[in-house]
Amino acid sequence: MHCPSSPRLWAIQEVLRRQDRTLPILNGAERKPISAIFGASTFNTRSMQEKLPKHIYERLQDTIRRGQALDRSIADVVAHAIKEWAMAQGATHFCHWFQPMTGLTAEKHDSFLTFGEHGVPIERFSGSQLIQSEPDASSFPSGGMRTTFEARGYTAWDASSPVYIMDGPNGRTLCVPSVFISYHGEALDKKTPLLRSMRALNEAALRMLQLFGNTTTYRVVPTVGPEQEYFLIDRAFAALRPDLTTAGRALLGARPPKGQQLEDHYFGSIKSRVQAFMQESEYELYKLGIPVKTRHNEVAPSQFECAPIFEEANVAADHNQIVMEVMRQVARRHDFALLLHEKPFDGINGSGKHNNWSMMDSDGRNLLEPGGSPRENLQFLAFLMAVVRGVHQRAGLLRAAIASSGNDHRLGANEAPPAIISVYLGEQLTGILDAIEADRLEKEASEEERLIKLGLSTLPEVSQDYTDRNRTSPFAFTGNKFEFRAVGSSASIAFPISVLNAAVTESLHHIAEAITTQREKGVPFAQAVMDVVRGVIAETKTIRFEGNNYAPEWVEEAARRGLPNLMRTPEALAELVKAESIDLFVTTGVFSKDEIHARYHVRLERYLKDIDIEVSTLLDMARTMVLPAAMEHQSRLAHSIEAVARVKGQAPWAQMGLLDACSEEIGRLRERLDGLDQLVKGLAASSERERAHRYAYEVAPAMRLVRESCDKLEEMVADSLWPFPKYPEMLFMS
Ligand code: ADP
Ligand code: MG
Repeated sequence: MHCPSSPRLWAIQEVLRRQDRTLPILNGAERKPISAIFGASTFNTRSMQEKLPKHIYERLQDTIRRGQALDRSIADVVAHAIKEWAMAQGATHFCHWFQPMTGLTAEKHDSFLTFGEHGVPIERFSGSQLIQSEPDASSFPSGGMRTTFEARGYTAWDASSPVYIMDGPNGRTLCVPSVFISYHGEALDKKTPLLRSMRALNEAALRMLQLFGNTTTYRVVPTVGPEQEYFLIDRAFAALRPDLTTAGRALLGARPPKGQQLEDHYFGSIKSRVQAFMQESEYELYKLGIPVKTRHNEVAPSQFECAPIFEEANVAADHNQIVMEVMRQVARRHDFALLLHEKPFDGINGSGKHNNWSMMDSDGRNLLEPGGSPRENLQFLAFLMAVVRGVHQRAGLLRAAIASSGNDHRLGANEAPPAIISVYLGEQLTGILDAIEADRLEKEASEEERLIKLGLSTLPEVSQDYTDRNRTSPFAFTGNKFEFRAVGSSASIAFPISVLNAAVTESLHHIAEAITTQREKGVPFAQAVMDVVRGVIAETKTIRFEGNNYAPEWVEEAARRGLPNLMRTPEALAELVKAESIDLFVTTGVFSKDEIHARYHVRLERYLKDIDIEVSTLLDMARTMVLPAAMEHQSRLAHSIEAVARVKGQAPWAQMGLLDACSEEIGRLRERLDGLDQLVKGLAASSERERAHRYAYEVAPAMRLVRESCDKLEEMVADSLWPFPKYPEMLFMS
């Protein structure tokens, strides 16, 4: 075989070879029914039952059901059982696994090794090791909360999320999902606020249920099913693209002539190579008790989605982090690079993480499921309007909760929801709400009759409205849950869900309070609820939008309605620290003032870092890869012109034109590169806030100009000289 003349051509050959290779990673022995392997690597109910004395098992189950902290008095017994179970599975180490404020997860491993009597080595795992550990975590960002002399942070097991065993090539580790808090109890992670928001929502929802005469429900939890979108690109291609490897997205690259216009990829049959990756990922995830359910191609070429069955918000958040990590590892084994970035390829659909969200009571009832009787539907309406009001009151905050440099490229890009947050309810519910608001039935005889007339007697299935308009909505009701679609594909869902929970909590209390006030005035119950609901419908009307969210007219309409349109991360993040936001967080107990300020700083810093990395990568690629290739091409053109002129005795005008165009673009690129470089250097001394703003509105456009020149050159320079894989190769060949 001949040696390819460039790394790019080598990569293409490599990928072609891989396409023909099927990877039978899962051998026959592992092709068991899913139910037989599901949760095998977790200390789940089955293992608890087997390993724990009955009374301890029951207390542990109760702790989990009620979402409480583990009781110290049973911790030693539980820890011992977990250790025995983990060692039987080959685990030698344990770690407290947590989610610091940055986008990653963190873990510090300790072995079970200790020394018994006479220095005999034994394995031990105590209750206190299970409950709490002190990772030397002083280098995790605290957003200014911890001063160095008290840099200690503690991790503590969140018993509602099962411990699990992570397989590594050379050993197994027992992972304990944990919160991460400072010495003074401040939340340094994403899980603690999420758990607090769940507690707050629980209280508010119980209060509402009690108004409706429900005294048996003892807990309400938010449920989440996050649909994860991602791209798979062959690793040989990714390795030749410093932008994909360092920034997670292609900072340059001319768009393919066809792009995704054909849309034949969506729900098409999955390539066997990709399917092998999916099957192995799923196998690993099943073992960890993660209920991944559906897999399919997405709209863009090389884009896919995996969706789990919904779980309690906190467990869903942990599981989604694990899904991303496991898929990343399995992708490597299959010679793929997993791209979780919100917009890896300009001009091609980006990736989101649709968060299906609802509330479930301790009897397993979905509180956003319309019921079969007027009374049930009255309750449904109260909860539904609490969500709508929550989004109405806190639209800016919800936008802030999903803000990142990556998501800025996706939101409002005509295939993703816009940065304007609105709620879609569908025709049927809109009709009902309009009728209630107009109270066209005021004169009717009985309350019951009015409810029936309003269509509230049977709302059993609010037909799921999957129109295109629905799909453009950032926050849509889909029959018995809301779908918060604006969340970015790489984000942890913990923060957006914490904010959503807080917003709904506030409105549940507001509505419950108003109903109580009416009742105290002697208004009959059903009428009191209807009166309050009617008020909320009127109050929140501006947030409801049933039209096309992609249409330019919506931007104007939203402005007329006074809805926030926070285009970029810096202005979105500013919402976090507004007085009214802090008030919400403090009242619901989700964040203290210091804690939310810390999030603001960590997120802003992250935004700046993301763009700093992109700028230096872009400068580097343009200077050391694009320009040399372009100049080589230029010199070939010049030589060719010289040769032709020698033979023909006159300059070949057509070729001269090509040379001029190439030279001009090279000149333009150089200027633009210098411009970008100077702009960024000039901002180095500015405040974070100032820099962030100018990164969004000056640096980003300057980067686009550099890209424009590079992409023009890509279309001129000889294909064999181009230093990195092009869009069509990456997207259609992987
Ligand atoms: P589709 O939207 O394709 O009809 P489903 O509605 O069944 O599919 O589910 C889409 C996602 O929503 C899945 O992850 C599912 O688990 C999740 N989901 C379904 N019901 C709920 C609920 N009550 N709370 C949270 N997520 C839910
Ligand atoms: Mg979806």
